[in-house]
Amino acid sequence: MSTLKTAFAAALALCFITSAASAGPLFAPFDDGSTHARAALFDTAYRALAQDPAMGNFQIVAADAAQVTRRTRTISLNLAPGLPVIAQQVDSYRTKEGLIVWHGILLDNGVKGSLFNPINTVTLVRNGKKLTGNVHYEGEWYHVRPLRQGGHALIAVEINRLPADDGDALMPVVPAPADQISATTPLAAIARTVIRVMVNYTASAAASTGDILGLITLAVAETNQGYNNSGVQIDLQLAGTSQVTYSETGASSTDLARYRGTSDGYMDSIHSTRTSLTADVGILLENNLDACGLASGIGSTYSTAFAVVKVSCATGTNRYSFGHEIGHLQWARHNPETDSSNSPYPFGHGYRRTSSPAFRTIMAYDCSPTPCATRVNYWSSPYRLYSGVAMGTVATHNNARVLNTTKTTVAGFFAPTCIPDGGVDDVLSATSCCSGYAVPGSTYCSNPADWGNSWASCKQICGTPLVNNCVPSGGIDDILSNTRCSSNVSVAGSEWCLDQADWGTDWKTCVQTCQ
Ligand SMILES: [Zn+2]
Repeated sequence: MSTLKTAFAAALALCFITSAASAGPLFAPFDDGSTHARAALFDTAYRALAQDPAMGNFQIVAADAAQVTRRTRTISLNLAPGLPVIAQQVDSYRTKEGLIVWHGILLDNGVKGSLFNPINTVTLVRNGKKLTGNVHYEGEWYHVRPLRQGGHALIAVEINRLPADDGDALMPVVPAPADQISATTPLAAIARTVIRVMVNYTASAAASTGDILGLITLAVAETNQGYNNSGVQIDLQLAGTSQVTYSETGASSTDLARYRGTSDGYMDSIHSTRTSLTADVGILLENNLDACGLASGIGSTYSTAFAVVKVSCATGTNRYSFGHEIGHLQWARHNPETDSSNSPYPFGHGYRRTSSPAFRTIMAYDCSPTPCATRVNYWSSPYRLYSGVAMGTVATHNNARVLNTTKTTVAGFFAPTCIPDGGVDDVLSATSCCSGYAVPGSTYCSNPADWGNSWASCKQICGTPLVNNCVPSGGIDDILSNTRCSSNVSVAGSEWCLDQADWGTDWKTCVQTCQ
């Protein structure tokens, strides 16, 4: 690079840093004195939050959603007057639905240093001008929730007023797959597996939020973050979302049985939706529920891989119930102080530590009646540390191993009859593209061993139709000549060939996936 270009790049970088650092606080006052009264009259999301006993100090604020981009390195979170907290990005990405997920850690202003601390985290989801997020700061939980009539609620959560974790003491134990990894199997030897989750919600659940897709995206993002934190090699993929026609009873066991039932006259259409989405697992979000959630069993089958989750517990807030209930469907159990059964895996319990530093993992209950440990977004594992303390044991507390050993079973619940966009069918099974769009000329071999000898055994690529001559976010560009990413961002390392004519000629010039 020339000196001039180097200087220009440096100036540009400085400009960017200055610009990023000079962004103001994320929240600004929005209450003109009557805002709460108006919202109480006209805003169902406000009313649901205001009526929830777990929602403590409640501010209505304007949130500067435009600050939340994949390139934003730091965000100033003014959670309360006199409480400025700087969040530093750890990871950020765009979902295939086009929402931005921004995950960061909170810098501690030097009190404890800025080293990573599992209890000082923030996850924000931006959907247009709406932000849905959770902040966990020094044991305190804050919710950011968009309202339906404008503005956002910034809430300090009273975690001890949340409902009980779940009512799963009597959940049946489903026959489990044989243990496929040992306690010492290195992470690099464990393949990543995609599990597809369908999320349904009642009208009441939707009305209780200002952005139900934002909330669902937050739940999926936090669950994946928990997997990544803990060495769980699962990518939880949102297969689709839809509202069901159903009046909540408030009884988790009743609603779960009706959600799961295929011909009882309640929500039966979700099963054909599941088929079209090729979803392995189904979650029903509800507003009124007698527990934070309920899963069909310790473990699951194709027919029972369903759970219900209460909206206010689904994400963060000392619960992470969305991931917790999916954990049960994957054969994970609670901490042994709460749940003494060792079936099917003796090592399959959550971990709770009551002495300093006190914490508990995703599957661990709090002490009762006096809470003793905050829940962190980790699965129990002897190989993860919190303040120098192992977050599990080899013999008893290793939910991460449970999830890694059962993931292919759960991922196999749905044998897809169609291939999602970007997918490849290379086995000539009776499949078609879920989008109905097969990439032109894409009948090719995805398996190099088939090149040149069994072309007929190969299959097609399911791609993405262009919009205004460019590939939408999450789409596949199979030509690269007359198309580009509408987002102008391609997935790193995503170049590969779909086009037969490119074989052996210019492999690298083939395809990219757009973010
Ligand atoms: Zn549970």
